[in-house]
Amino acid sequence: MKVYEVINLGAKELQGICENPKLEAELLLAYCLGVDRTKLIIQRDEEVEDEVLKKFLEVLSKRKSYIPYQYIVKKQYFMGLEFFVDENVLIPRPETEILVEEVLKRLKKGDTLIDIGTGSGAIAVSIAKYFSDCFIYAVDISRKALEVAKYNAKKYSVLDKIAFIESNIFSNVPKGIKFDFIVSNPPYVKKGELETLQEEVKKEPTIALNGGEDGLLFYKEIIEESNFYMNTKGALCFEIGYDQKDEITDLLRKAGLGNVEVIKDLSGIDRVIIAKYKL
Ligand code: GLN
Repeated sequence: MKVYEVINLGAKELQGICENPKLEAELLLAYCLGVDRTKLIIQRDEEVEDEVLKKFLEVLSKRKSYIPYQYIVKKQYFMGLEFFVDENVLIPRPETEILVEEVLKRLKKGDTLIDIGTGSGAIAVSIAKYFSDCFIYAVDISRKALEVAKYNAKKYSVLDKIAFIESNIFSNVPKGIKFDFIVSNPPYVKKGELETLQEEVKKEPTIALNGGEDGLLFYKEIIEESNFYMNTKGALCFEIGYDQKDEITDLLRKAGLGNVEVIKDLSGIDRVIIAKYKL
Protein backbone atom coordinates (compact mmCIF):
# COMPACT_ATOMS: atom_id res chain seq x y z
CA MET A 1 0.00 0.00 0.00
CA LYS A 2 1.11 3.53 -0.69
CA VAL A 3 1.38 6.22 1.96
CA TYR A 4 -1.75 8.05 0.82
CA GLU A 5 -3.74 4.81 0.76
CA VAL A 6 -2.69 4.00 4.31
CA ILE A 7 -3.68 7.50 5.39
CA ASN A 8 -7.11 7.10 3.78
CA LEU A 9 -7.60 3.76 5.46
CA GLY A 10 -6.62 5.22 8.83
CA ALA A 11 -8.88 8.24 8.37
CA LYS A 12 -11.82 5.97 7.59
CA GLU A 13 -11.17 3.83 10.67
CA LEU A 14 -10.96 6.90 12.90
CA GLN A 15 -14.23 8.34 11.62
CA GLY A 16 -16.42 9.19 14.60
CA ILE A 17 -13.59 8.52 17.05
CA CYS A 18 -11.86 11.86 16.86
CA GLU A 19 -12.53 15.31 15.46
CA ASN A 20 -9.98 15.26 12.69
CA PRO A 21 -9.52 11.66 11.47
CA LYS A 22 -7.35 12.51 8.44
CA LEU A 23 -4.93 14.63 10.46
CA GLU A 24 -4.63 12.01 13.20
CA ALA A 25 -4.13 9.24 10.64
CA GLU A 26 -1.32 11.28 9.10
CA LEU A 27 0.27 12.00 12.45
CA LEU A 28 0.08 8.37 13.53
CA LEU A 29 1.59 7.13 10.28
CA ALA A 30 4.32 9.78 10.50
CA TYR A 31 5.03 8.52 14.02
CA CYS A 32 5.30 4.91 12.78
CA LEU A 33 7.66 5.97 10.02
CA GLY A 34 9.71 8.18 12.32
CA VAL A 35 9.26 11.25 10.12
CA ASP A 36 7.34 14.49 10.55
CA ARG A 37 4.00 15.14 8.88
CA THR A 38 5.39 17.40 6.15
CA LYS A 39 7.87 14.73 5.09
CA LEU A 40 5.04 12.19 5.05
CA ILE A 41 2.98 14.29 2.70
CA ILE A 42 5.93 14.64 0.33
CA GLN A 43 6.26 10.84 0.34
CA ARG A 44 2.58 10.23 -0.35
CA ASP A 45 3.17 7.99 -3.38
CA GLU A 46 5.82 5.81 -1.78
CA GLU A 47 5.18 2.23 -0.69
CA VAL A 48 4.74 1.56 3.04
CA GLU A 49 6.77 -1.43 4.22
CA ASP A 50 4.90 -4.34 5.83
CA GLU A 51 6.57 -3.78 9.20
CA VAL A 52 5.43 -0.16 9.29
CA LEU A 53 1.93 -1.05 8.18
CA LYS A 54 1.71 -3.61 10.97
CA LYS A 55 2.78 -1.03 13.54
CA PHE A 56 0.32 1.49 12.10
CA LEU A 57 -2.57 -0.96 12.42
CA GLU A 58 -1.58 -1.57 16.04
CA VAL A 59 -1.57 2.11 16.97
CA LEU A 60 -4.76 2.63 15.01
CA SER A 61 -6.50 0.01 17.08
CA LYS A 62 -5.26 1.68 20.29
CA ARG A 63 -6.60 5.02 19.08
CA LYS A 64 -9.91 3.37 18.18
CA SER A 65 -10.20 2.25 21.78
CA TYR A 66 -9.93 5.96 22.72
CA ILE A 67 -6.37 5.90 24.00
CA PRO A 68 -5.33 9.55 23.64
CA TYR A 69 -3.04 10.33 20.75
CA GLN A 70 -0.48 11.76 23.18
CA TYR A 71 -0.20 8.46 25.08
CA ILE A 72 0.46 6.64 21.82
CA VAL A 73 3.21 8.94 20.60
CA LYS A 74 4.36 9.54 24.21
CA LYS A 75 4.62 13.29 23.90
CA GLN A 76 2.79 16.56 24.32
CA TYR A 77 3.94 20.08 23.64
CA PHE A 78 3.58 22.58 26.47
CA MET A 79 5.08 26.07 26.66
CA GLY A 80 6.99 25.27 23.47
CA LEU A 81 8.68 22.27 25.09
CA GLU A 82 8.17 18.63 24.21
CA PHE A 83 7.14 16.66 27.29
CA PHE A 84 7.25 12.90 27.57
CA VAL A 85 3.85 11.62 28.76
CA ASP A 86 2.43 8.21 29.54
CA GLU A 87 -0.61 6.72 31.30
CA ASN A 88 0.80 7.71 34.69
CA VAL A 89 0.32 11.42 34.13
CA LEU A 90 -2.37 13.82 33.05
CA ILE A 91 -1.70 15.13 29.55
CA PRO A 92 -0.70 18.80 29.91
CA ARG A 93 -3.43 21.10 28.58
CA PRO A 94 -2.87 24.34 26.67
CA GLU A 95 -5.01 26.21 29.26
CA THR A 96 -2.46 25.38 31.93
CA GLU A 97 0.08 27.50 30.05
CA ILE A 98 -1.87 30.50 31.38
CA LEU A 99 -1.03 29.45 34.94
CA VAL A 100 2.66 29.16 34.03
CA GLU A 101 2.67 32.52 32.23
CA GLU A 102 1.03 34.30 35.18
CA VAL A 103 3.59 32.81 37.58
CA LEU A 104 6.48 33.75 35.27
CA LYS A 105 5.23 37.36 35.16
CA ARG A 106 5.38 37.61 38.94
CA LEU A 107 8.54 35.64 39.77
CA LYS A 108 11.51 37.40 41.33
CA LYS A 109 15.13 36.33 41.50
CA GLY A 110 15.78 33.77 44.20
CA ASP A 111 12.13 32.81 44.70
CA THR A 112 11.20 29.37 46.01
CA LEU A 113 8.12 27.66 44.60
CA ILE A 114 6.17 24.50 45.13
CA ASP A 115 4.20 22.75 42.38
CA ILE A 116 1.63 20.49 44.02
CA GLY A 117 0.58 17.48 41.93
CA THR A 118 3.31 18.01 39.37
CA GLY A 119 2.33 15.03 37.18
CA SER A 120 4.47 15.17 34.02
CA GLY A 121 6.32 18.14 35.52
CA ALA A 122 4.93 20.43 32.82
CA ILE A 123 4.48 23.37 35.21
CA ALA A 124 7.67 22.92 37.25
CA VAL A 125 9.94 22.16 34.31
CA SER A 126 8.73 25.02 32.15
CA ILE A 127 9.05 27.52 35.00
CA ALA A 128 12.57 26.24 35.76
CA LYS A 129 13.44 26.44 32.07
CA TYR A 130 12.13 29.96 31.47
CA PHE A 131 13.19 31.61 34.74
CA SER A 132 16.81 31.11 35.57
CA ASP A 133 17.05 32.07 39.23
CA CYS A 134 14.45 30.12 41.19
CA PHE A 135 14.11 26.83 43.01
CA ILE A 136 11.10 24.54 42.78
CA TYR A 137 9.77 21.71 44.93
CA ALA A 138 7.74 19.44 42.67
CA VAL A 139 5.53 17.07 44.64
CA ASP A 140 3.19 14.30 43.65
CA ILE A 141 1.55 11.41 45.46
CA SER A 142 2.39 9.13 42.53
CA ARG A 143 5.93 7.78 42.37
CA LYS A 144 5.42 6.85 38.74
CA ALA A 145 4.38 10.39 37.88
CA LEU A 146 7.51 11.70 39.61
CA GLU A 147 9.63 9.44 37.41
CA VAL A 148 8.05 11.05 34.35
CA ALA A 149 8.57 14.54 35.78
CA LYS A 150 12.23 13.78 36.51
CA TYR A 151 12.72 12.49 33.00
CA ASN A 152 11.33 15.74 31.61
CA ALA A 153 13.48 17.82 33.96
CA LYS A 154 16.56 15.95 32.82
CA LYS A 155 15.60 16.42 29.20
CA TYR A 156 15.53 20.19 29.70
CA SER A 157 18.60 20.30 31.99
CA VAL A 158 16.77 21.65 35.03
CA LEU A 159 17.26 18.72 37.42
CA ASP A 160 19.42 20.88 39.70
CA LYS A 161 16.64 23.47 40.05
CA ILE A 162 13.89 21.09 41.13
CA ALA A 163 13.54 18.86 44.19
CA PHE A 164 11.13 15.99 43.54
CA ILE A 165 9.24 14.73 46.56
CA GLU A 166 6.73 11.90 46.85
CA SER A 167 4.15 13.61 48.97
CA ASN A 168 0.43 13.88 49.56
CA ILE A 169 0.20 17.67 49.23
CA PHE A 170 2.54 18.96 51.98
CA SER A 171 2.88 15.70 53.95
CA ASN A 172 6.55 15.06 53.07
CA VAL A 173 7.60 18.63 52.38
CA PRO A 174 10.32 19.71 54.86
CA LYS A 175 8.81 21.82 57.63
CA GLY A 176 9.95 25.39 57.90
CA ILE A 177 10.16 26.24 54.20
CA LYS A 178 8.22 29.38 53.32
CA PHE A 179 7.30 29.43 49.68
CA ASP A 180 7.05 32.55 47.57
CA PHE A 181 4.69 30.73 45.24
CA ILE A 182 2.40 27.81 45.89
CA VAL A 183 1.31 26.63 42.46
CA SER A 184 -1.11 23.86 41.61
CA ASN A 185 -3.35 22.41 38.95
CA PRO A 186 -5.00 19.96 41.35
CA PRO A 187 -7.61 17.35 40.46
CA TYR A 188 -10.80 19.40 40.28
CA VAL A 189 -13.46 17.34 38.53
CA LYS A 190 -16.47 16.49 40.75
CA LYS A 191 -16.55 12.80 41.55
CA GLY A 192 -20.05 12.48 40.11
CA GLU A 193 -18.95 14.02 36.81
CA LEU A 194 -16.05 11.66 36.13
CA GLU A 195 -18.34 9.31 34.24
CA THR A 196 -19.46 12.08 31.90
CA LEU A 197 -15.95 12.96 30.73
CA GLN A 198 -14.78 12.40 27.18
CA GLU A 199 -13.65 8.80 26.55
CA GLU A 200 -10.03 9.91 26.11
CA VAL A 201 -10.04 11.79 29.41
CA LYS A 202 -11.29 8.63 31.14
CA LYS A 203 -8.02 6.99 30.06
CA GLU A 204 -6.07 9.54 32.12
CA PRO A 205 -5.24 8.82 35.78
CA THR A 206 -8.38 9.26 37.89
CA ILE A 207 -6.26 10.49 40.82
CA ALA A 208 -5.22 13.42 38.63
CA LEU A 209 -8.84 14.36 37.94
CA ASN A 210 -11.00 13.42 40.94
CA GLY A 211 -11.54 16.45 43.15
CA GLY A 212 -13.99 14.72 45.49
CA GLU A 213 -17.73 15.25 45.85
CA ASP A 214 -17.62 18.99 45.24
CA GLY A 215 -14.41 19.11 43.18
CA LEU A 216 -12.86 21.34 45.81
CA LEU A 217 -11.15 18.79 48.04
CA PHE A 218 -7.59 19.74 47.11
CA TYR A 219 -8.18 23.48 47.06
CA LYS A 220 -9.50 23.25 50.60
CA GLU A 221 -6.50 21.31 51.86
CA ILE A 222 -3.91 23.41 50.07
CA ILE A 223 -5.49 26.69 51.18
CA GLU A 224 -5.73 25.51 54.77
CA GLU A 225 -2.11 24.40 54.91
CA SER A 226 -0.72 27.33 52.98
CA ASN A 227 -0.81 29.24 56.28
CA PHE A 228 2.18 27.21 57.41
CA TYR A 229 4.02 27.12 54.13
CA MET A 230 3.53 30.47 52.42
CA ASN A 231 5.66 33.52 52.79
CA THR A 232 3.63 36.51 54.01
CA LYS A 233 4.34 38.16 50.67
CA GLY A 234 3.79 34.92 48.78
CA ALA A 235 1.12 34.04 46.26
CA LEU A 236 -1.15 31.09 45.85
CA CYS A 237 -1.72 30.30 42.17
CA PHE A 238 -4.27 27.74 41.04
CA GLU A 239 -5.77 26.46 37.86
CA ILE A 240 -9.51 26.12 38.47
CA GLY A 241 -12.53 24.46 36.87
CA TYR A 242 -14.93 26.54 34.76
CA ASP A 243 -17.49 27.00 37.57
CA GLN A 244 -15.28 27.17 40.63
CA LYS A 245 -14.30 30.83 40.82
CA ASP A 246 -16.83 31.91 43.45
CA GLU A 247 -16.43 28.93 45.75
CA ILE A 248 -12.63 29.13 45.67
CA THR A 249 -12.66 32.89 46.19
CA ASP A 250 -14.77 32.26 49.30
CA LEU A 251 -12.33 29.64 50.57
CA LEU A 252 -9.42 32.03 50.02
CA ARG A 253 -11.14 34.92 51.82
CA LYS A 254 -12.02 32.71 54.78
CA ALA A 255 -8.33 31.75 55.07
CA GLY A 256 -7.33 35.40 55.28
CA LEU A 257 -6.19 35.67 51.69
CA GLY A 258 -7.26 38.56 49.56
CA ASN A 259 -6.20 40.51 46.47
CA VAL A 260 -7.85 37.79 44.44
CA GLU A 261 -7.15 37.97 40.73
CA VAL A 262 -8.93 35.77 38.20
CA ILE A 263 -7.54 35.23 34.71
CA LYS A 264 -9.67 33.89 31.88
CA ASP A 265 -8.52 31.50 29.17
CA LEU A 266 -8.87 32.16 25.45
CA SER A 267 -12.44 30.82 25.49
CA GLY A 268 -13.39 33.37 28.14
CA ILE A 269 -13.56 30.76 30.92
CA ASP A 270 -12.21 31.61 34.39
CA ARG A 271 -9.09 29.50 34.47
CA VAL A 272 -6.51 30.79 36.91
CA ILE A 273 -6.89 32.31 40.35
CA ILE A 274 -4.15 34.08 42.27
CA ALA A 275 -4.36 35.24 45.88
CA LYS A 276 -2.07 36.89 48.39
CA TYR A 277 -2.28 37.78 52.04
CA LYS A 278 -3.94 41.06 52.84
CA LEU A 279 -1.02 43.05 54.27
N1 GLN B 1 -8.65 20.16 32.61
C1 GLN B 1 -8.91 18.80 32.95
C2 GLN B 1 -10.13 18.34 32.15
O1 GLN B 1 -10.04 18.40 30.97
C3 GLN B 1 -9.07 18.65 34.43
C4 GLN B 1 -7.73 18.75 35.05
C5 GLN B 1 -7.78 18.75 36.54
O2 GLN B 1 -8.63 18.15 37.19
N2 GLN B 1 -6.85 19.44 37.07
O3 GLN B 1 -11.13 17.91 32.65
